[in-house]
Amino acid sequence: MDELDTLKTIAGNPGGYLRDLKEDGETLLGYVCTYTPEEIILAAGVHPVRLFGTQDDISLADAHLQSYCCSLVRSVLEDVLRGNLDVLDGAVFPHTCDSIQRLSDLWRMNTDFSFFADMVLPVTLNRESSRQYMTDVLKGFKDALETRLGREITDRDLRQGIETCNGIRTLLATLYRIRSDNPRAISGRDLHAIVMASMIMRRQDLLALLPAVVEAARETGGATGTEDTKRLVLTGSVCNHPDLYDIIDDAGGIVVGDDLCTGSRYFEGIIDETGDPLEALVRRYMERPTCPAKHLSLTARADHIISVARENRADGVIFLLLKFCDPHAFDYPYIKEALAREHIPSTLVEIEAQLSEGQVRTRLETYIAML
Ligand code: SF4
Ligand code: SF4
Repeated sequence: MDELDTLKTIAGNPGGYLRDLKEDGETLLGYVCTYTPEEIILAAGVHPVRLFGTQDDISLADAHLQSYCCSLVRSVLEDVLRGNLDVLDGAVFPHTCDSIQRLSDLWRMNTDFSFFADMVLPVTLNRESSRQYMTDVLKGFKDALETRLGREITDRDLRQGIETCNGIRTLLATLYRIRSDNPRAISGRDLHAIVMASMIMRRQDLLALLPAVVEAARETGGATGTEDTKRLVLTGSVCNHPDLYDIIDDAGGIVVGDDLCTGSRYFEGIIDETGDPLEALVRRYMERPTCPAKHLSLTARADHIISVARENRADGVIFLLLKFCDPHAFDYPYIKEALAREHIPSTLVEIEAQLSEGQVRTRLETYIAML
């Protein structure tokens, strides 16, 4: 299918795609966290690019970062120091975890892109004072873009950015529902590629392509797996390993839902398209399911993962822990206990920018066989 192939090609070679965009005259802004308000970047007429880092060996970044920083941050720093991200015009860093804050400082000191922004977001998201603070931070980012571009970003621009993101989010959520109902409608590897491409490609082009992909998945009938196939939910931060979905399939499992930055965390949270657009944006970033770098309540994350598991009739939950990711590591024990209380078996798989395929395969085969 042409549309799906296009998305897979972009996910497989983001660098080539971005170079073409640059030649077309696009202004490209890199970011590393789903708390980045893509809506404001689009409203500014700028192209948001999610950075996933290189999967090559880390050498240059080691001179700047301790080896106990997560591999996402180390590999993004490596990418920029090698000149692989020279197509960018700048980057924005929401301050969410310590590693991203370190990356932001190192990026600012070691690069000379024409735009750089830090967004120091609130950590606690359920207080009125946090709401006001979040409003000020988003407005400050909008002001910084206006200064850089020398033009005003109007409410109309913001509404257009919101509409585009809402359209994409609705289609991706639909695709996830279709796969949960019929896991053979689209492979896990392909769905992963679609979400990855969604964070890289021109969003209007994406919006034009996605409906055909959704329709094709909806129309795909066929087997929905044997009774023994184990339905699984993935949770964690970034998963840049399409092979992992194949490993799970080979082991007799199937991913039917997730709580990942390279999955549902990217597209959850539809924004109200009426009323003040900045207030509506603030609501989305305050109210959507949190990651462990944010706080809503002592049980919010566990409650969310349990509800994702229940809604998708999951047999188990796999924690994908990026090595040295402290926020997710700190959350793991209590979420594991909460899942156990609900009789949802879970396992933890540690991953890095490069996947140790043999180890991961053995771990997943053992877990799935045990379910
Ligand atoms: S886990 Fe949270 S802080 Fe880390 S990249 Fe994802 S959204 Fe950002
Ligand atoms: S939340 Fe974890 S994976 Fe994401 S940047 Fe921070 S330390 Fe790295």
